[in-house]
Amino acid sequence: MSLQILSPVRKQGEDCVVWQCPFLFKSKEYVIRNSYSLAVEDLLSVDRIDAAVVALLRFAIEKEEDIISEYPISEELYYNLVTLFIPVLCKTNRLRPISLNMPTVQAEASEKRNIVGTGISCGVDSLYTIAKHVNCLCRDHSLTHLMYFSIGAHLTKELDLQREQLAIRFSKEIGLPLIVVKSNLPDLMNEIGGRYDHLSYHTYMMAAVMLGMQKGIRYYYYSSTYKFDHMNLNLQDDCAQYDLLSLSVFSNSGMRFISSGGSIDRLEKVKEISTFPLSYKYLNVCIADIKNDGVCFKCIRTLLELDAVGAIDKYGEVFDIDFYKRNRKYYLYRLYYRSRFANDKFMNELYDCFSREMTPLFKIKAICHLALNRLLGRRKI
Ligand SMILES: [Zn+2]
Repeated sequence: MSLQILSPVRKQGEDCVVWQCPFLFKSKEYVIRNSYSLAVEDLLSVDRIDAAVVALLRFAIEKEEDIISEYPISEELYYNLVTLFIPVLCKTNRLRPISLNMPTVQAEASEKRNIVGTGISCGVDSLYTIAKHVNCLCRDHSLTHLMYFSIGAHLTKELDLQREQLAIRFSKEIGLPLIVVKSNLPDLMNEIGGRYDHLSYHTYMMAAVMLGMQKGIRYYYYSSTYKFDHMNLNLQDDCAQYDLLSLSVFSNSGMRFISSGGSIDRLEKVKEISTFPLSYKYLNVCIADIKNDGVCFKCIRTLLELDAVGAIDKYGEVFDIDFYKRNRKYYLYRLYYRSRFANDKFMNELYDCFSREMTPLFKIKAICHLALNRLLGRRKI
């Protein structure tokens, strides 16, 4: 059994341009559909299957399915995948190394490769990358575009649409054009039996849609959650843990993916964005609501981080800071037991900032609070 990629085509959508590529799996035909803002209609790459190979790669590796095609892949990508990426990922995960059987073609020459872009989610990592590259000292590395991806990151369709509106407002305010990219890849992965889990797929999805418009991209910054000294090639975990490898493998001589933010830890990033005024208005981390609800795990972590770097009072427009201050001890209880009993990596990093407040009496109160909360389910924090 194998995945057979057919010929990609470009189609005109209503208010977008669509990169479309059919493939066969278990005698059934499926179609990858990636849509892009009209501004990039001349930049889609339909003379090669790079985007489809990367889109299907994680699934193929996990399911030990070879990928075949009559249509060509860029030679550089083929080399990187076959000699570097597939062997190490398969060996680490004790899987049969898959093969890629398809012709190769030289790198795509393009005079239009002028886009220096990054994704805009308004989270800490994303805002850090934008703050560092909006007027970069190295002029050729300064951002020219922002991208909004509607590809499986959001819990609901409504949240996705609201985040897109937020990205549109942010882009206008910072003065950079926004490219909106949508894809049916998450649904397709589920249809073919891949059980789409955004954490373990996201780098592949981003790289696939960017390779689909590789004629126009010079640099693409992908915001990293992890530091460069952290590497884990487990296919089931967050694929950001091997971004350094995958982003270098998916790059080619004309278009380079750059992992951004991996040189510093999370608190340093928070400190950096606290000097970026647009973050006071746009920081948006909540997994549950378009407005930060202050009580989901991401909001709790971010509020504590802003507190730790002394910037909490700057964020009254995006968080209910009075609520945080009134309930601060419960946030610290959460920090204590997530760090000490759940080995939460991010809370571990934060713990030292508040360790002076963690007296023996405080710890006893935190444990009692946790026990009562479990028993009665009274508090959200
Ligand atoms: Zn939240």
